[in-house]
This record gives sequence, structure tokens and C-alpha cells, in this order.
Amino acid sequence: MRKQIAAANWKMNLTLQEAEILIDELMDITHDLKENQKAVFAVPFPFLISVKNKIVDKKNFFVAGQNCYDKKAGAYTGEVSAEMLKSIVVDYVILGHSERREYFNESHPMLAAKINICLENGLKPIFCCGESLAIREAETQNSYVETQLKESLFHLSAEQLTGFVIAYEPIWAIGTGKTASNEQAQEMHAHIRNVMTNQYGAVVSESISILYGGSVKANNAKDIFGQPDVDGGLVGGASLVAAEFAAILNSLK
Ligand code: PEP
Repeated sequence: MRKQIAAANWKMNLTLQEAEILIDELMDITHDLKENQKAVFAVPFPFLISVKNKIVDKKNFFVAGQNCYDKKAGAYTGEVSAEMLKSIVVDYVILGHSERREYFNESHPMLAAKINICLENGLKPIFCCGESLAIREAETQNSYVETQLKESLFHLSAEQLTGFVIAYEPIWAIGTGKTASNEQAQEMHAHIRNVMTNQYGAVVSESISILYGGSVKANNAKDIFGQPDVDGGLVGGASLVAAEFAAILNSLK
């Protein structure tokens, strides 16, 4: 069975003290996960070591960076490298979140380079894709997402894509309280898997975990995660409330 993943994206929220209270609370109310399940915490860089230390004893709990730079090292003031993340035992890195594409002009080639440097350092990317409301209304979301996948992933080998993680996040559903319907989510996830099957074959595409992101909450997670091609979620707002995220973890297949 594909890995089922609930990934928390804390974005630029909380102080260290607040972050520690949240993670302590969550550790108190969560159990070890099943073999096929994972919890991933994409927390701000300054909190990574502290959060990692607090989750280390729980089975299948991991930390993630929310980004990393595409260069190895050097005079890039303010940036964080893949090697630095590896050195503090980070497991995953979110790449291509729509907020980074929009506010930091992250392009397809830049994301391809970031994916490469993460893989070289043994970090697992969580590659985000998804369309705006205008694209959805024009009904061109399938080709739009296909281009995102082709431009940033298709240079990878079948081996590199085996067990890869993709997050489909319709921009119109992020932080809006408006979730894609179960049918819309399943339709796009099946499309993504189909795109990957056409390029890499069914064995690879069936191994890829495709997470849904966009206003996932405790009260809708079970239905969305229940769709056949949905393998969990990338969760923003609801991941900042321990009871909400614990319930989302309990909703994994
Ligand atoms: C996100 O930022 O990845 C996200 C899905 O946010 P939210 O759950 O708040 O919509």
C-alpha cells in the first residue's frame, strides 16, 4: 500500500515557545502510526531541531523544511541549503508551495534544481502543484497541473520518482475554508497519477503518494482521504490546533 501521509505546514506562524506547547500537546494525544502511515511537520527553520527532538520517539513522525535554496553553498545571505537541513536530520522538504511560487517567483526550472539538490542530499521533496481559481473556471486545470509536473519532475529517473510525494493544492482552496469536493480531488489526483503512469509506467505511479491540500480540517479529512487516489493531506491552518491535527492523523487510511 502507498504511504499515507498527513503533513502539517505551519507556515510563518508561532514563536518557539508556542511551537513547543503545540507539539507537546500533540504528542500527548497521538499514538504511534501504522506501518503505512506518516506524520510530517513542516515547521519554520528555527524550530526544526526542537520539534525533531520532541517527536523522535514516536513511530513514523518526521520533520520537514518548508523550502530550501537551489545552490549548494556560498554568498546567498538569508538562504538555507539542503546540506544544512540534512545536517540537522530533516527528512522532507516542501517545494513549490503556491505561496512561494507567487510571492518569491519560484519558476519550474528553479524548482527542478531544488528537487535535484534535495535528492542529492537524501531529503525527500513534497512537490506542490495546483491551479488558481481563474484556471479552474476556464477548465484548463488538467493541462496546467500537467505542465507543472512535466517541467519540474520529468527530468528525474523512475528510481528517483519511486515513492515520491506530490501534493495537489488548488490555490482557491488554500486558507479559504473552501475545500475541493471529494469528486474534484479524486478527479485531479487520478489525472496526476495518469500523467505519471504515461511517463514512467504504473509501477512508479502507483508508488507515488499524492496528498490533497486546501482547507483540510478534522471534519472533512476522512471523506477526502477516503478517495482512492488521495493518500493523505498537506494541512495549513488546522495543523496549528493540536486536537484538529490529531483527528486528521486519525483519518488516514
Ligand atoms: C497549505 O498552505 O498548504 C494549506 C493547505 O493551507 P490550509 O490547510 O490552511 O488551506
